[in-house]
Amino acid sequence: MSQLELLPAEGHLIAGELVTDGEKYDVIDPCTESVAGQAPSAGSVLVDGAMDAAASALDAWASDEVARRAALLRAADTIEQSVEQLRDVLCLESGKPALSATFEVMGAAAHLRWYANAPLPQDVLHDDENQKVVLVRDPVGVVVAITPWNGPLVMLANKLGAALLVGNTVVAKPSPFTPVSSLLLGRLIADIFPPGVVNILSGGDDLGRALVAHSATRLISFTGSVNAGRAIMASAASDLKRVCLELGGNDAAIVLGDVDPEVVAPRLFRGAFMATGQICAAVKRLYVHESLFDAVVDQLAGIARATRLGTPHDPETTMGPLTTRPQYERVRALVENALAAGGKAHSGGAPADGPGYFYPPTVITGVDTGVELVDSEQFGPVLPVIPFSDVDEAIEKANGTNYGLGGSIWTADLAAGANLAKRLRSGTAWVNRHPAVGPDLPFGGIKHSGLGRENGAPGIDHYSELKTLSVDYTPTRKDQ
Ligand code: NAD
Repeated sequence: MSQLELLPAEGHLIAGELVTDGEKYDVIDPCTESVAGQAPSAGSVLVDGAMDAAASALDAWASDEVARRAALLRAADTIEQSVEQLRDVLCLESGKPALSATFEVMGAAAHLRWYANAPLPQDVLHDDENQKVVLVRDPVGVVVAITPWNGPLVMLANKLGAALLVGNTVVAKPSPFTPVSSLLLGRLIADIFPPGVVNILSGGDDLGRALVAHSATRLISFTGSVNAGRAIMASAASDLKRVCLELGGNDAAIVLGDVDPEVVAPRLFRGAFMATGQICAAVKRLYVHESLFDAVVDQLAGIARATRLGTPHDPETTMGPLTTRPQYERVRALVENALAAGGKAHSGGAPADGPGYFYPPTVITGVDTGVELVDSEQFGPVLPVIPFSDVDEAIEKANGTNYGLGGSIWTADLAAGANLAKRLRSGTAWVNRHPAVGPDLPFGGIKHSGLGRENGAPGIDHYSELKTLSVDYTPTRKDQ
């Protein structure tokens, strides 16, 4: 199995050209905390260059749907042909185990392929002897796509797929923690799209702010934290730019008393700890019926203790490190705070020895609403488990938050489970799974978890201007 020691030097993609000169910043390997490579940092001249290129490319791109679908398919093929190259960069900059990184690369290709084949509906609203009225999807214009560090490739591919299918052009900005996989993707697909259709700039939060504020931007498609989402919405308001905000979550899973703990615990563990817990719609609070509480906690703690923390290419590794130092510090602080508040760690509870942002999967009981670990998003490998006796009380606690991304009910009674899931105030509600997403499944949050939907037909609509096209058959000449 190949393994990179250093990240390749990649450039921004602007107007079809790779731009490597200018300032650079360090990218850190989360397994060793050493510098893994450097990425370029775009200033205002490059921002203007990318935005002008995207604006200039718009009309020609928007006019040829056949070419757009063909280019998306070629991009998907190219990603599939470059799996190992993309995987290794992703492993090095994010610490993801190789298998997870491979899934992410393949997921990125699958998203582009799905959009390449997705319908762009023309809804017929009236069709009679007097008129034909059709609802069509027009592009919005230049889309600024801003992504976080936990799924850099799949989130970029998702935004590119939807935006480009409709005929928009894109200026994308990855997280400064994991920029190189996106820049590499840009290099791999540079020749597939006409110059200016896809531009990728790397840099920090200031670059994101500049792209959002730019006069050519018409839609900001953002995935990241609630605070940044708020700032983006405020900035967009002055020019009435459109926003699609996919923000944080604090998903609750509720386990009823009729399930077998041994059967559901491995699935609950995956839902909470997959990707080291760094998933927006991971299980972040677990409410378990009191009759099963001890058994579920024991099962989860047993799986946690059997987890092997390690580097991406070690075949023994089942969990990687946290990807960033701030997230590692946050998880440490949340656990210390929970233990100080009377919590008990049944596994983990302190950082792993040695270098790197490794933190063992930690199952905590003895905490409830009012403790920060329960009230806010941990985005890491720590799960508070809370008993309940009355399911109405569990639903109330699940909904008693400003977040509203996902939630789930676990039960042997599927009809009762579906009815309870309807009562969860969230963009997605699952029964007996958590999370599960795909390009065909609309995804997004309510309340502070976001605005708008990505994926599926509603996702495509979010990257479109809906235009009512009306043709009146009343003659306009005497001889008609
Ligand atoms: P973040 O908000 O700090 O950064 C995300 C991106 O936004 C980065 O590229 C960053 O440079 C940029 N950015 C930051 N401030 C900005 C501003 N004011 N204007 C423009 N751009 C700005 O988030 P993060 O720490 O990278 O990601 C973790 C968060 O993302 C978690 O809260 C997680 O739940 C959320 N997330 C949500 C989803 C979803 O689909 N709902 C998916 C993945 C992650």
